[in-house]
Amino acid sequence: MDNIKYCQSCAMPLQGEELYGTNEDGSKNQDYCLYCYEKGVFKGNMTMGEMIEFCIPHMVKANPNISEQEARECMYRFFPKLKRWR
Ligand SMILES: [Zn+2]
Repeated sequence: MDNIKYCQSCAMPLQGEELYGTNEDGSKNQDYCLYCYEKGVFKGNMTMGEMIEFCIPHMVKANPNISEQEARECMYRFFPKLKRWR
């Protein structure tokens, strides 16, 4: 678990360089995924709560054994530790 990086905005596992977002100069950003961060700016100006609600359906789809409520509780514990929301 320690060697897996997570997007510091949406908590998606960054399992390969192709999932990294990009900095203004086009280089890879190590902290955020390509869905959250492009050319040095966040896509979509969301609050943490909005991001969590946005992510729940994806998380439930990726983990069919957890309920929507479990996903939400898990994210509300995890997201405040992420760089974007700290
Ligand atoms: Zn992300």
